[in-house]
Amino acid sequence: MSSSMPASLRRARALANTIAYLGHDDELATPEQAERWLREMGCDATVDDTALERLRQFRTAVRAWVAALADPQPARASALGGVTLGVEVADNAWRLRPLGSGIDAFLGAIAADLVYACAAGVSDRLKLCSHERCAIAFWDTTRNRSARYCNPRTCANTVRQRAYRIRRDDTGSRS
Ligand SMILES: [Zn+2]
Repeated sequence: MSSSMPASLRRARALANTIAYLGHDDELATPEQAERWLREMGCDATVDDTALERLRQFRTAVRAWVAALADPQPARASALGGVTLGVEVADNAWRLRPLGSGIDAFLGAIAADLVYACAAGVSDRLKLCSHERCAIAFWDTTRNRSARYCNPRTCANTVRQRAYRIRRDDTGSRS
């Protein structure tokens, strides 16, 4: 089976990664920025302060969901609230359909994408980077699903170098 991320998870990952990290600004900082981001994602909704708060809360919930997927502890749980999904059954198969329009439909579709991915057992490679200043959602392509950082050359390397510096400084202070 291919280890590349299913296209259906792109929207969820994109929302999770609108946060501020390393040199990247929060894309949901103002209603105008949120509207621009939604347009890039193919959603033409207008965003007021209430809608902005809702987008930000849903982003937090998606990130908590991703963290809960990667962490086997039962204490970790997350709910994607505030969306309405209909369930259709046809030809012995079920389908989730986001109800409403605009932001309702957009967030509902992301919730449905995540539910489908969980149901299909293909969501456990989606993780949050362990670098505290990064924390973006990434797709773990390692064979044994052991990656902790979004990028071995950047985030993982920074953490390794920091650990090396601390070890070196410890050694230096003793000599
Ligand atoms: Zn990272």
